[in-house]
Amino acid sequence: MSSRELVVLGTASQVPTRTRNHNGYVLRWDGQGFLFDPGEGTQRQMLFAGVTANQVHTICITHFHGDHCLGLPGVLARMALDGVTHPVQACYPAENRAVFAGLRHAALGRELTTLRERPVGGDGVIVEEPAFRLEARRLSHSVPTVGYRLAEPDRRRMRPADLAARGIYGPDVGRLEREGSLVTGGRRVMLAEVSEPRPGQRFAFIMDTGLCDAAFALAERADMLVCESTFAESEAALAREYGHLTAGQAGRIAAESGVRLLVLTHFSQRYDRGDGDRLAQEAASAFGGQIVLAQDLDRISVPPRA
Ligand SMILES: [Zn+2]
Repeated sequence: MSSRELVVLGTASQVPTRTRNHNGYVLRWDGQGFLFDPGEGTQRQMLFAGVTANQVHTICITHFHGDHCLGLPGVLARMALDGVTHPVQACYPAENRAVFAGLRHAALGRELTTLRERPVGGDGVIVEEPAFRLEARRLSHSVPTVGYRLAEPDRRRMRPADLAARGIYGPDVGRLEREGSLVTGGRRVMLAEVSEPRPGQRFAFIMDTGLCDAAFALAERADMLVCESTFAESEAALAREYGHLTAGQAGRIAAESGVRLLVLTHFSQRYDRGDGDRLAQEAASAFGGQIVLAQDLDRISVPPRA
């Protein structure tokens, strides 16, 4: 099983349908779990998907329309009930602190004492760890909305044969990596001689927004982009009016940002499963990369490094 994968909990915008839960997603990234936009019913969808409350470390809410947050009270109650002891961070648009507080304290009972709120007040880095950086940017919707981007730092991949040819072994490898060069056998070996760039993997999450620069910036060279595609081209006027994307616009963001895998989701209730091909084709007319039309309970691997 891939250690970096998207678990799709739901794919419906606005209202659930018979085949789609309100949207919600868990990104499993090595040992970390990121829960994005827990819509109504998220606790039960996690059960169906085999994701436990203990596997969630960070909650990222793009905005406070119900399809992106009404599942939060249930998830937090479940985390408290299951005795989660690790710190849990919750990121959300800073303007709506009061809404978050309402959801956090929506019911009586045991509370998750390890919850740390990280209101997002502007563009920039929210969480910086050695293994990843979580960033946010303001999107363009009818209420304060942010998109998220998870990026692993760029590193270098060592070439064992080139190291061996220069007699570099053991702790010297780490020293060369840290210092950029190493004197051995009477000559200086440069890091670039024995290694190549290893770009960090990137994941982007773009929900409810019209086309805007921030969407392109979030998606920049993402290995996986999860993008709302609420409407088909036939409803482009509605998309404009309500601050949403069409599938074709999601494809355009992916194409212009050098994305590898585009995951389409957050579908209007007017589209049934039979409309999936149409939405995927509209995205594909703009984007030549891989496209997945998300279905509830899908598990989608982050593509391996190129
Ligand atoms: Zn929505």
